[in-house]
Amino acid sequence: MNNGEEYDIIVAGAGLAGMLAAATSARTGKRVLMLDRNQEFEVGKKTVWGWTCGDAVAGSHIDYVTKKLGVTFGKPELDRRVDGVYALSPDLSTKFMFDGVGYTLDRPEFEAKLLGIAKKSGAEYVSEFEVQGPIVEDDRVVGIYGQNSKKEQFRLKAKIVIDALGVSTVLRRKLPENPFIDRSVDIDDVESTGRYIYEFELDHEDLAYYDPENALIHLNNELAPGGYGWVFPKSGNKINVGLGVQKSSLDIRNAKLGRKDNLQTLIDNYVKWNPALKNLKLFNKNNNGKGSWSVPVRRQMESLVFNGYVGAGDSMVMPNPISAGGIGPALVAGILAGENASRAIDENDISIKGLWKYNVDYNEAYGKKTAGMEVFRIYLQSLNNDVLNYGMRTFLTMKEASDITLGIVPELSLASKFKMVLKGATNIGAFSNMVYAINRMKDLNEIYDKYPETPEKFASFKHRVTEIIEDAKKRFKPNPI
Ligand SMILES: Cc1cc2nc3c(=O)[nH]c(=O)nc-3n(C[C@H](O)[C@H](O)[C@H](O)COP(=O)(O)OP(=O)(O)OC[C@H]3O[C@@H](n4cnc5c(N)ncnc54)[C@H](O)[C@@H]3O)c2cc1C
Repeated sequence: MNNGEEYDIIVAGAGLAGMLAAATSARTGKRVLMLDRNQEFEVGKKTVWGWTCGDAVAGSHIDYVTKKLGVTFGKPELDRRVDGVYALSPDLSTKFMFDGVGYTLDRPEFEAKLLGIAKKSGAEYVSEFEVQGPIVEDDRVVGIYGQNSKKEQFRLKAKIVIDALGVSTVLRRKLPENPFIDRSVDIDDVESTGRYIYEFELDHEDLAYYDPENALIHLNNELAPGGYGWVFPKSGNKINVGLGVQKSSLDIRNAKLGRKDNLQTLIDNYVKWNPALKNLKLFNKNNNGKGSWSVPVRRQMESLVFNGYVGAGDSMVMPNPISAGGIGPALVAGILAGENASRAIDENDISIKGLWKYNVDYNEAYGKKTAGMEVFRIYLQSLNNDVLNYGMRTFLTMKEASDITLGIVPELSLASKFKMVLKGATNIGAFSNMVYAINRMKDLNEIYDKYPETPEKFASFKHRVTEIIEDAKKRFKPNPI
């Protein structure tokens, strides 16, 4: 790589999305450069805190990569198989299963494997390179600037830049002002999250607190305001335990309870709260035992492309708005971004229009349900523990709740639901609010089912989407306690 050199595609960020984008596009014979700030032995590390993640991914997303790239995964990168994910009510009396069979990953191993695949596919990889921003000419991204480990400045050109820099991306944030991609994200749409990886001993068996076959999610607004805590089993006697919070919800909870908790004290309290775990010892392999980072939990950017620019993964705010699962979307988007960037180059049109099919493909593969899920997330964040307990017991069946986490609008037999004996004005209000949220999910799913085939119809699409989301935000305010 030399200063001023030109590539077909520059992939910024060698995380999940970036490495699959690089592999996919390099396989079509494109000249691909992948840049990342990490040293090679720590590829995929998100921050100085490590590969901070809950590590859980649905099996279907791993299968997607296998199907598309013909690569298989096993031990050590698929660290442990789980039957599914259970979400438990605050009082632990109700649990809903969702997501089906999945894995907890060994992320350092998983990313090392993806790097091998990207390199074998022909991508050039440069580590210890800090991407600092996009080069923009005539309203088009034509490359990136940044510096290597010796602090030498580089300007590198490409027909297309793929932004896979994760949630803190300096590329999306520095795009020219444009109607397609928002440069910033509302703070209420970001979860502050953190976790430990521990070795532990089981104090006593209690499947509400630790389940060797399933990933557990604890909905509890006192422990994790506006988010949830999790205990995910890893291989041997290890667990990944952590939580995520919404800042506004945390502030409200602290003010109401007269507390001064922050993310770290909440995580530590959550670990202590769990009676099934004892003799916890930090498992600090790769210095990856403890860390915190942000997860964006809104719908993905309404457009994922700009002239000469394509985004994939957390840089495009792709994690599932309800579960915050971003591994699957990053894997899917990385592959589709690589495919579409290559196709646009082959077709000699790297404008928004030429890249548009990526929007349509991602929408179809994963994205079309996320706006609806975002409304449901906003609704959930307006419920305190009492309503959550009651609601999880009475409002939804297991099937209906599971559908919602997949963005599927449940077939609520509303008439019969209303005949149920709902106790208390707050609960009745929460139920009618849930019906409102589900109806807006339906509206958004219908709008996304007709995602614009070309950029010309985008403005009215985006207007309709943002109007519904803004209405939901006005109606449902964070109310954790
Ligand atoms: C605590 C926590 C728990 C989570 N739990 C789960 C979970 O259980 N399941 C799940 O599905 N998802 C989970 N997520 C989300 C998931 O980890 C992310 O969605 C996923 O890692 C996104 O992949 P990515 O490739 O888009 O970005 P990243 O994994 O963030 O990769 C971005 C890459 O870009 C590099 N980079 C960034 N900026 C620069 C720069 N300026 N110059 C050069 N390189 C740069 C980074 O070093 C990194 O290598 C969790 C997230 C957190 C924080």
